[in-house]
Amino acid sequence: MTQGFDTLQIHAGTEPDPATGARQVPIYQTTAYVFRDADHAAALFNLQEVGYIYSRLTNPTVGALANRIAALEGGAGAVCTSSGHAAQIMALYPLMGPGLNIVTSTRLYGGTYTQFTHVFRRFGWTAKFVDFDDPAAVAAAIDDNTRAIFCESIANPAGVPTDIPAIAKVADAAGIPLVVDNTSATPFLCKPIDMGATLVVHSTTKYLTGNGTVTGGAIVDSGKFDWSASGKFPSLSEPEPAYHGIKFHEALGPMAYTFYGIAVGLRDLGMTMNPQGAHYTLMGIETLSLRMAKHVENAQKVAEWLEADPRIESVSYAGLKSSRYHALAERLYPKGVGALFTVAVKGGYDACVKLVNGLELFSHVANLGDTRSLIIHSASTTHRQLSPEQRAAANAGDNVVRLSIGTEDAADIIADLDQALAKASA
Ligand SMILES: *Cc1c(COP(=O)(O)O)cnc(C)c1O
Repeated sequence: MTQGFDTLQIHAGTEPDPATGARQVPIYQTTAYVFRDADHAAALFNLQEVGYIYSRLTNPTVGALANRIAALEGGAGAVCTSSGHAAQIMALYPLMGPGLNIVTSTRLYGGTYTQFTHVFRRFGWTAKFVDFDDPAAVAAAIDDNTRAIFCESIANPAGVPTDIPAIAKVADAAGIPLVVDNTSATPFLCKPIDMGATLVVHSTTKYLTGNGTVTGGAIVDSGKFDWSASGKFPSLSEPEPAYHGIKFHEALGPMAYTFYGIAVGLRDLGMTMNPQGAHYTLMGIETLSLRMAKHVENAQKVAEWLEADPRIESVSYAGLKSSRYHALAERLYPKGVGALFTVAVKGGYDACVKLVNGLELFSHVANLGDTRSLIIHSASTTHRQLSPEQRAAANAGDNVVRLSIGTEDAADIIADLDQALAKASA
């Protein structure tokens, strides 16, 4: 019998340290590992034996975290990275090449939009942006050069849930993988692989760590995609020149993508998570389900209170009955639809600035998924350089603030919003 989520988040991927019996996962603060002899070294470099060579590739502390995240997502394997943005590049790197493209959602984390627009161009990759409420539009955007579909499970900044099974069907029909950024849902609220996704990426910076201490990322592979079927993924199906001609898919089966991510991705791109960072995230992940349940409970209470307040124009939370996404949320996200949403405030730009300045418990920061309640007024910060029209299209209109509801007492969160809204509307 597979163990439950609450057990896996504490135990999966680790055992008491074989060298010392240490119960908690030790921080293996080392760069390199001594080979038993020259044959051992050769076997490791040939991928004939799994072991440790150099911490840019693998490290036991980082490996424990990767195994735990893979178990929580129901994947075959995972690779940890230095940040969520590194995970996105690393996830697409084995699939892409100059002239190739991905089809992605118009609703994305702001930094992801920038990466997909400006950084992609430097690699010769392109991203086609489509409304993911319309699976037919996603299908229509796919061409012969499309190598992946990418979306967020619960999308930034408005907390919009995605119909992952419907999008996965489109990906299957096209013979390309669906990549889901599961950062704001976490595997507690959403298991994209169970819904048909091939790959899952995370910014572990957010809820998985949960306390705003470190940046990190992860890529999880379902192990189910046939990389050799179409000839579209030569990095995995054909002899790899940067790894003495090994055919990853033929040699490693369901672990091909994960091994490629380590043996080529981390080795050559170097976007490695450090063991100290992995330690903080391992500590955080032990309480993931407890925190997420409280995040969701608080978000529901705060969203309902805000929606009923005359100083508020609208609240985007899909947990509200008034949301056009409420039915989808109930069907696919029965444990809740996260704790991230946007609020339109009466009084526009000035009222939002006063609200942000007036809050005392909330922190005004460019982050989400902390135990602390966070707020950001995108129009005066992250989206400052855009025109008002561009801001409105990006769900970052002048009158909109984004809230990331923490795990404090809901009554205290509401009291803080109440007093700051009084200042904002004075
Ligand atoms: C924060 C975030 C990222 C980027 O992660 P970093 O760890 O900051 O690099 C990507 N996607 C989503 C949904 C995020 O919230």
